[in-house]
Amino acid sequence: MNGFSKRVTRKDALASLLVLPALAGVLAVGATTIARADSRTQLKYQSTPKGKQKCSGCSLFVAGKTATANGTCKVITGPISPNGWCTAFMPKSS
Ligand code: SF4
Repeated sequence: MNGFSKRVTRKDALASLLVLPALAGVLAVGATTIARADSRTQLKYQSTPKGKQKCSGCSLFVAGKTATANGTCKVITGPISPNGWCTAFMPKSS
């Protein structure tokens, strides 16, 4: 092994050390986005209540600016109606 190939090997190793974690991060974010997008269908989200259960009473709901404004959800992407519901409903503790 000559000096040149030894330098290239170290350089490649350093590049790999920098690129692999970044690539892993991109893949993880992509997988999370896909999982969250799929969850809307999988969790059977609907924009209307299910009996007395609705998003505004769910511990996973993040309220919007007003009581009637759409908010967000910790498990489903996109706007979430305070009157919506899904199978992941988790009542707020009183
Ligand atoms: S988990 Fe379901 S019920 Fe709870 S806030 Fe999110 S969409 Fe609404």
